[in-house]
Order: sequence, then C-alpha cells, then structure tokens
Amino acid sequence: MTLPFDTKTIRAQSSTAGGDDELSIIPTWSVILAVIVFAAAQYLFHEVLPHGRHEMLPMRLLMGYSWGTAFASYILLVGYVSRDVKRRNMSAKLWMLIVIVMPGGIGAVVYFLLRQPILSRCPHCTTEIASSYHFCPQCQFQMAPVCGQCFRGVQITDVYCTQCGHDLAADGAPARLRVYGDQ
Ligand SMILES: [Zn+2]
Ligand SMILES: [Zn+2]
Repeated sequence: MTLPFDTKTIRAQSSTAGGDDELSIIPTWSVILAVIVFAAAQYLFHEVLPHGRHEMLPMRLLMGYSWGTAFASYILLVGYVSRDVKRRNMSAKLWMLIVIVMPGGIGAVVYFLLRQPILSRCPHCTTEIASSYHFCPQCQFQMAPVCGQCFRGVQITDVYCTQCGHDLAADGAPARLRVYGDQ
C-alpha cells in the first residue's frame, strides 16, 4: 500500500488547526470595501456635513475616524464570517443575513457563540471530520498523535504520555507520523 500522505498534508493541517493566519481568510473584496467606507466616512465628516463656526477640527477628525473605523471593522467582520461559515459547513446565506441584519454586531456575537467546529478532510478517505478528532470515524486513519495506552492526545515530540506515563516510543510511530522520523 502506498502512503497517501506527505509532509505537505500534515503541514497544511497543522496550520488550519493552529489558527495562526486566521486574518488571512478575510476576502479581498471586504478589505477593499472597508478602505472605501473608511475614506467615505472621512469625506462625509469633512466635506459633506456642514460645519458651523463652533465645530472644531479635532472633533471632526475624531468623529470621522471613529465612525470610519466602526463601519470598516464591521465590513471586515462580515467578510471573515463569509469565509468562516464555509469551512464549518454552515449555511452561508443564513449566517450572512443574521450578521448583517441584526443591529450593533449582535448577529456577529450570536455567530461566534453558535458556530460549529472547523471541518477538515481525512487524507485517506476524504470524509469530513472535526479538527479535534484523533481518528477518522470511517477508516480509522490517525489524525493526531495519541498515547497507545490511554489514547489521549500527546505532542509529537513527547517521549512519555503526560496523562499516564506510558513510554510512547514503545508504540511505534503510526504510518502518518513516520515522515518526521525519516528526515
Ligand atoms: Zn478516513
Ligand atoms: Zn497515556
């Protein structure tokens, strides 16, 4: 049997699980729109709205900046949600509607409370699985290193299990993790 995985697969999975580049999933259209809206807010407060004699420049700067930032952040948030729903297998239309329609960011709060765990695919049989699983429920492919005695999760560099003290070297590396030893 050929090994259906390589270091690239593992690296891709660990990057999605780690969440280091969460901000990079924000789509370009929402970044551009956010910049435009921020600029429009500056234009609105400095050019369009009538400023009386008493209204001072620092006040206008502050208002333009705070409203611009608030609207721009909101657009970035909507952009983030539009990508995030897809990797959690949730209804994109429904959640975009909730986040946009519910006032004052309440929709976004509801979204972050109720969202499902991120899904990934088993590299062996392509079943969709939650990223917290240790084994694929369909083909028993090992998704994460576990202790051979108590089956709790361990770090790939651990020599002994932190939960039961089992000697992990005695387990023998599962096929998926052997690539690390070969390097
Ligand atoms: Zn599988
Ligand atoms: Zn253990």
